[in-house]
Amino acid sequence: MLRKSPFVNSCFIRPQIALLICVLGSMFCLSWRQAKADSTLRPVRVFVGDKPLEASSSPLTDGNETFVPLDILGMVGAQGHLNKRGDAVEITYGHPMQEAELAVARPEGKPMLALSDLARLLPADILTVDSHDNRTPKATSFDEVYLLARVTDVRLQQGAIRFTTSFPVPYQVRMIDEDGQRVGYVDCLGAKLSSDEPNQTLPDDDPQTQNLRVGQFKPDVVRVAVNLPLSLRVRIGDGQADAEGQVIVVLWKDPKGAAKMAAIASKADTTGKSQGSGGLQMPTTPGGETTVTTTSPSGALGANAAANPTETTNGESGEGNNPASPNAPSATKFVQIQRIVFEPDNDQNATLRIFTTGPLQPSIRYTTDGGLQLDLPGAVLALTDSTQADQSFQHPLLTEVQAIALDQTPPVVRIRLRTPRYDGFVLDPRTDQVVLRLRLPRNATGVLADKLIVLDPGHGGSATGATAGGYAEKNITLAIALKLRRVLEACGARVVMTRDRDRDVDLSARPALANSIHADFFISIHNDACSHPGEASGTTTYYHMEDPSSRALANCVQQAVAAVTGLPSRGARSDSSLYQHGLAVLRESQMPAILIEVAYIDNPVDRRKLIDPNFQEKVAEAICRGLRLYIEGHPQTALLLPADR
Ligand SMILES: [Zn+2]
Repeated sequence: MLRKSPFVNSCFIRPQIALLICVLGSMFCLSWRQAKADSTLRPVRVFVGDKPLEASSSPLTDGNETFVPLDILGMVGAQGHLNKRGDAVEITYGHPMQEAELAVARPEGKPMLALSDLARLLPADILTVDSHDNRTPKATSFDEVYLLARVTDVRLQQGAIRFTTSFPVPYQVRMIDEDGQRVGYVDCLGAKLSSDEPNQTLPDDDPQTQNLRVGQFKPDVVRVAVNLPLSLRVRIGDGQADAEGQVIVVLWKDPKGAAKMAAIASKADTTGKSQGSGGLQMPTTPGGETTVTTTSPSGALGANAAANPTETTNGESGEGNNPASPNAPSATKFVQIQRIVFEPDNDQNATLRIFTTGPLQPSIRYTTDGGLQLDLPGAVLALTDSTQADQSFQHPLLTEVQAIALDQTPPVVRIRLRTPRYDGFVLDPRTDQVVLRLRLPRNATGVLADKLIVLDPGHGGSATGATAGGYAEKNITLAIALKLRRVLEACGARVVMTRDRDRDVDLSARPALANSIHADFFISIHNDACSHPGEASGTTTYYHMEDPSSRALANCVQQAVAAVTGLPSRGARSDSSLYQHGLAVLRESQMPAILIEVAYIDNPVDRRKLIDPNFQEKVAEAICRGLRLYIEGHPQTALLLPADR
């Protein structure tokens, strides 16, 4: 049993203690990182605002500090040169121009700046992101670093919204008409509000506008929304730095004001561009919509993460798709999928690239036959080569790709992958493509008979686990684990148990044992319980965070077990759904590791099964089948499997 509820015993320890351990664990983790700071540098992608840093050498991070080549100065409107000693950069920056000196680091011989020094100077904010984990902001394990311009002031001034930012960033404007009203949205991309207040109503003395709001729409997007009368003619100018170094967004004014605004943006106007980040937009007519779209890779960052008081009411989320027409999707309104390309590196690593005309927010899941299903909402199929909608391969990780357009509003493109096994995968959505990396999961070569498996019956001794109906979890988990040991040994596998009788075992001793003997797999067995006893039923298998191998293993085993229990399948889930830092036994295990909640001990129907030796045997056999599926793949495709190590 595992739970978040503070009202009942947790399966391992009370939540308060679990929290303490989590906190201590992260403190340990921090000091460990600091100790390693000088020795372990890794490359990292750096973005300035929403633009990737293009530099002569790769930025590096030690997990705390990120070091960037001097090329970054040009991207924040600054200039700099190395001093004679070569130990500092003299920098001119800002409006009015200021001078400063920043120390130079040479982590790999080349002169670089510490990003935190530059951020303090500008000022700017640093956001670290794990691109493999749905691009969620992360303190550790990040592979992307964003330098965000700080928005220090937003105000309405003579028919224009005026952002003051610490360096120029692109923006995006859209007008949406509904219910006789027009709402204008201005998004500053790659920017952060200096105030922590999630939503502010700004002073507004323009009689034509109402209710000007500003908020941190996404971790890297500041949004202003304002209500305008439909009769107002709108012009959208380009964002320009003025004498005070401010970025101006010209939003609207009636015709006499528009002339003035046009003058401000006259240079852009002569280009005649009607679309794009630099052009002056044509006035819109009432009922129409005007959009300036500056596509941004960072636009995909945690779409729902920030307080979002200014989101539009019709479900739009600023991703660039216009929902207006319920008719057949128009290819121009949605992101187009133009090419689907499979790029195998070798038998164990391959990449599927789906080239698009804009960013998408894909979702992916395993299908019950072990394949993958990738859904791309807001996309339409526009393949330049129609044969790419249905492709076959002879590869150990992928045999077939099919793309179909689902008739939904907004449209969805579904891409089905047939695979000879449960692949490990990492999904990496980018501005112009969705990258799906496929990999052979860890320890998934050879056969089950070669493997060393640690079985961990939950609880034991004084730790009973959940109790219900006169039964204790610790006894049921041991009974299932002992049966599983017999089944696995009959297959030729070696098994070590964290306990094989009713005794206390420390939580941390369990993964420590598996690590010390270099086990191939760690399988922990538990029974679930609900804060409302009897209301939940079924099987859940947990894996740690987004670990691709453990996720594949959890899906294999969950599917095999759910097939024999006669109870609901509650799915394979990340342990981050229970605790922010996941479960200790899974977190600390260095090999693919899962925790199975076989069924609910506090549900009479589940419990009757759990205490039945025949049911325990069926579950043990199913876990073994799931493990074999992970290692050996589907039987009919055995010939495609990579050679043994
Ligand atoms: Zn438990």
